[in-house]
Amino acid sequence: MIPTSFDYMRATSLRDALGILAQGDGTKVIAGGHSLLPVMKFRLAQPARLLDIANLAELRGVEEHRKGARVGATTTYRELLDSEILRERFPIVAECTENIGDWQVRNRGTIGGSLAHADPASDMPAVMLALDATFNVRSKRGRRSIRAREFFQAPFVTALAEDELILDVVLPALPKGAGTAYLSQVQAASGYAMAGAAAVVARTRKTVSHAVVALTGVGEMSQLVTAADQLVGTKAEPELLGRVAAASVDGLQIQGDIHAPASYRRHLAQVIVRRTLEKALERAK
Ligand SMILES: Cc1cc2nc3c(=O)[nH]c(=O)nc-3n(C[C@H](O)[C@H](O)[C@H](O)COP(=O)(O)OP(=O)(O)OC[C@H]3O[C@@H](n4cnc5c(N)ncnc54)[C@H](O)[C@@H]3O)c2cc1C
Repeated sequence: MIPTSFDYMRATSLRDALGILAQGDGTKVIAGGHSLLPVMKFRLAQPARLLDIANLAELRGVEEHRKGARVGATTTYRELLDSEILRERFPIVAECTENIGDWQVRNRGTIGGSLAHADPASDMPAVMLALDATFNVRSKRGRRSIRAREFFQAPFVTALAEDELILDVVLPALPKGAGTAYLSQVQAASGYAMAGAAAVVARTRKTVSHAVVALTGVGEMSQLVTAADQLVGTKAEPELLGRVAAASVDGLQIQGDIHAPASYRRHLAQVIVRRTLEKALERAK
């Protein structure tokens, strides 16, 4: 379908963008447009005005931040893949990003757009949860920082207010020797995750000292797997990994759809969680 008509303007500075959003006239921000435009074509969103922030240099790029990294909101997937800092410190970001969409999506789609859109089947939110990322957001009213764990609230619903922009994403340093992994089983036509899991684990000698897992694609939104806590203080024996994987879907509202019934998605999620944990444990030094 064709979207309803709208005005388009390009922000010239962050200050300019925040001023326009503060007017509260239903202006919608656009970055890469790879989520917003499809939604507009279905007429699920009918903004009167689009404010393009893709060219705001102050929101773009990856830099070292303490021993972690800071990633600007309008940094594209392509730029995430090209970042030496991320490859070295957070290889899970590239492992996830290289399978997102296709060339066009990766060239235009931004990390901030993916997080703000909060599609329950998108890949990046699970990685942000597993890495315990924090999002710095700003409006004309001021700044605040929101942990990924508090950011995703329901399908396509986040803690962002209408006048707020995500400025950047802060990734704290991983525990020493940590192993990470992202695996997903994608729906063949769309490429979105039917089930995906992100894991960050660390060992001290042979005992697990850190274990965080997040799931995407199966519940109402990306969320942490609380059962992964059971691994801390253990040697992550195969039997325990099996129990954690089995419990990973407890309490999730799993819906069936045209691609798979709920029972299949449940089983898939359990298999993916187990394999992701095994891979991250193998990589932990
Ligand atoms: C063909 C196709 C295949 C895809 N495959 C995958 C896939 O396999 N996995 C996956 O995870 N995703 C996939 N996607 C989705 C894609 O990853 C996201 O659409 C994209 O990253 C969103 O970023 P964007 O910059 O395009 O956001 P936009 O579409 O510009 O914006 C999305 C939403 O975020 C808001 N927004 C954007 N930037 C900010 C900001 N800085 N602060 C506050 N709000 C903001 C907008 O107002 C809008 O509501 C696919 C998309 C397409 C079209």
